[in-house]
Parts: sequence; C-alpha cells; structure tokens
Amino acid sequence: VNISTPQQGHTNYLIGLFDPSTFAANYRCGHCNSDTRLVHDGFGVPHLVIEHDDGCPVLTGALTAAPDVLRASRRAS
Ligand SMILES: [Zn+2]
Repeated sequence: VNISTPQQGHTNYLIGLFDPSTFAANYRCGHCNSDTRLVHDGFGVPHLVIEHDDGCPVLTGALTAAPDVLRASRRAS
C-alpha cells in the first residue's frame, strides 16, 4: 500500500504525511523540558519516546499531548 496516494473514499493516515525523524526532531512537550527520541523496534517500526520531567501534567495523564502532536506535525509535513 502506498500511503502517499490518497485513496477514494478513505484515508489511511491521521495527521498527514511526514517523515518520522523530522516529526521526532520537532516534537516538544508543551508543559515541560522533554527529551524526545525516535527508536525502531525489531520490525523497523518507528516509535517516539518522550521523556517528560517529573510531575509533567502530560506524563501524569492530567493533560493531553494532542496540541503538541499537532504542532510537531505541522512542522514535519
Ligand atoms: Zn511533559
């Protein structure tokens, strides 16, 4: 499946087309001084690891990371 080609009647991505490395480089937690790393699992699938400061409201689940995802995706697309 070529995810870069829009399909008629449906999409197969959530936040647009982007380079995972660029997305990781642009991702910042909006509530702490996080460190972000891109790691690949044994299948080569990229995973974003965000190391939040202790007590960060995103880390505790009090706030969503959605705005940070949107900011990073706008810069990465
Ligand atoms: Zn944080």
